Amino acid sequence: MRVPVALVASFFLSIQAQQEWTYSGPGLVESDWPKDYPDCGGQKQSPINLQARLVRFNRSLKPLTLKGYEDDNLEFSMTNNGHTVQIALPPTMQITDSEGTVFRAIQMHLHWGGGFFELSGSEHTIDGIRRVIEAHFVHFNSKYGSYDEARNQSDGLAVVAVLMEIDEYAENTNYSPIISELLNIQYPGEITTLTNINIQDLFPGDTRHYFVYKGSLTTPPCTENVKWFVFQDSVKLSKAQVLKLENTIKNKNNETLHNIYRQTQPLNQRVVEANFPQFTDKCNSQHHPLHCCFCLRWISHGNGISKMRGSLLQLGCTFTNSLS
Ligand SMILES: [Zn+2]
Repeated sequence: MRVPVALVASFFLSIQAQQEWTYSGPGLVESDWPKDYPDCGGQKQSPINLQARLVRFNRSLKPLTLKGYEDDNLEFSMTNNGHTVQIALPPTMQITDSEGTVFRAIQMHLHWGGGFFELSGSEHTIDGIRRVIEAHFVHFNSKYGSYDEARNQSDGLAVVAVLMEIDEYAENTNYSPIISELLNIQYPGEITTLTNINIQDLFPGDTRHYFVYKGSLTTPPCTENVKWFVFQDSVKLSKAQVLKLENTIKNKNNETLHNIYRQTQPLNQRVVEANFPQFTDKCNSQHHPLHCCFCLRWISHGNGISKMRGSLLQLGCTFTNSLS
């Protein structure tokens, strides 16, 4: 029997189109995403490496205004979608950016590593350093009626990224409701309900200072319509909490989900801005946010703090007891 070539070709194309995307297989592996999802091969992709020396300090960028996140009487559904753990968020949660654009929340999810001993899994890196976990709070522009309407618009989406690090034994109880429910959503498609959780408490202590740039979704279809806000401050989880996240959730092949992050993408012509000054000196940056480091160095050079306080505050310096 002779089968027309075009029919055979379309049969194989449809097989290929049905391939599920993955990071490292089996399925459509990361390097092949552009074959089925052309945007993944674009020039404004995410995540990126945030390089301090290339970041432009923009003092006119105001802190994000967060609204509706503080509500702690809400319940949230959390699901294993086969790629990550995802928590649905209500549109009453919203951020307003420095330009006054309001973005409504739709969901949050996590990226982690864990493929080998202590391998980190954040998507964005800062000066080449990958953090342990990265949370993404996905929002859509409120000028569109829904996420589905906004997802293909050039100004449709905003994602707030939170980087996480390990603080050996210190359990972060803000994250305990999520961690303790993981066993109930081990397998793809399983859903559980989170109670006694405050979403605002999942953010780092300092939500004033952020990096901002224009990028894309970090998973297919990689649409290039995301305004990214990466908080400078990070969240700390205990090692036990991180290990539980890394070793509980399974994919559709019944394998534990490890290393669910995309490689960093070229910056190309883009400029990353920050609303705090960059400081590349290594001084104390292990223990202080970068801008505090700047303040410390300023003070250690013998500059009187009282006279300078106003301008240091403008630069984003904060003054704790140890600094003042
Ligand atoms: Zn993500």
